Amino acid sequence: MALAMVRRNVITHYSKFASSWSVLSRHSSIHNPSLASVSPFHSQSVGGGGGGGLPSYMRGAVYWETNKPLSIEEFHMPRPKAGEVLIKTKACGVCHSDLHVIKGEIPFSSPCVLGHEITGEVVEHGPHSDSKTIERLPVGSRVVGSFIMPCGNCSYCSKGHDDLCEAFFAYNRAKGTLYDGETRLFLRNSGKPVYMYSMGGLAEYCVVPANGVAVLPESLPYPQSAILGCAVFTAYGAMAHAAQVRPGDSVAVIGTGGVGSSCLQIARAFGASEIIAVDVQDEKLQKAKTFGATHTVNSAKEDPIEKINEITGGKGVDVAVEALGKPQTFAQCTLSVKDGGKAVMIGLAQAGSLGEVDINRLVRRKIQVIGSYGGRARQDLPKLIRLAETGIFNLDHAVSRTYTFEDSAKAFQDLNEGKIIGRAVIEIM
Ligand SMILES: [Zn+2]
Ligand SMILES: [Zn+2]
Repeated sequence: MALAMVRRNVITHYSKFASSWSVLSRHSSIHNPSLASVSPFHSQSVGGGGGGGLPSYMRGAVYWETNKPLSIEEFHMPRPKAGEVLIKTKACGVCHSDLHVIKGEIPFSSPCVLGHEITGEVVEHGPHSDSKTIERLPVGSRVVGSFIMPCGNCSYCSKGHDDLCEAFFAYNRAKGTLYDGETRLFLRNSGKPVYMYSMGGLAEYCVVPANGVAVLPESLPYPQSAILGCAVFTAYGAMAHAAQVRPGDSVAVIGTGGVGSSCLQIARAFGASEIIAVDVQDEKLQKAKTFGATHTVNSAKEDPIEKINEITGGKGVDVAVEALGKPQTFAQCTLSVKDGGKAVMIGLAQAGSLGEVDINRLVRRKIQVIGSYGGRARQDLPKLIRLAETGIFNLDHAVSRTYTFEDSAKAFQDLNEGKIIGRAVIEIM
């Protein structure tokens, strides 16, 4: 079976990809001239202790440079270190943060493997991992990983503020590595190191710090559950920690893509009374109603601030969430909240973007502008899983489309063209 699978893989590398972004196959040949001579024998095991039965190499989708489509390359099998798990990736969500990197809007080390919203199966623990971790995540466990992978030891993690983990930002976001300053990814043909955006989830296997992983119950499917790790995780962090939404609150969500539409569902779960979805696409607004929106505003056709005021009896909302990362919607968000209200910013913008706030209104009317990057993995991930398991958060509604691993580049192209309603997921194995 392994032999047949790899033969097919080698063939698809040259045929299927040509239909995606056109540069793709040319790209592979530039960086991977030896690919044509790849051995069709895939089943050779990793030598030495641990990893028995695992193949010696895997495939991952590599981002090389700005505006070039991802290319699928072969890697040495990544190996976990202490406190880390090796996961056989089953699915990986298609998120705007990855697209920001692809488009050069947010700088990140390259080449790298993107993908930060995954489900999969634990296949190996790092040597010297503690027994509690191994007991919590036995080999064979079905798991979901959060994009913020807390180290568990820094000053923020020790206070439970996993979303501010120093190691995650200092090593992963700043350098593209895990917390010993090294990547786990090396190209098979050249040994060249390849950086990791979060766990580098757009690959057949990925190494993840165990603190960023929680067990997924049998009742939750791998493809749909991937979005728990970023879209739902980000929405939960914004609603539970930044906005602290209370039953009866009025909530507006500006931008109803994957994260925004998850905010609608979380707002509904928390008992918000008015839930106002703001977007420029009628199709997205129509779908927003299935996520819990009680009102919709097409901001291409009407002024969202006026409309939100009208819906809330002239007051504005208790909580407004900005999920786009644009200066204009940043300002709209601050102007949509009532006196004392919370304007929560969760959309990443092009690096260096600035947002404007009316200072006197901010001061006199006690407006709160709050940034939020994500949830707290160790506390929140198990709660999100329960919300999905009980159907309070509907994963099926949230995931509108799936792609094959070979079509990864196409998935990001479609996201870039606004063709994805809700969230898309790439199924890997
Ligand atoms: Zn994301
Ligand atoms: Zn930490």
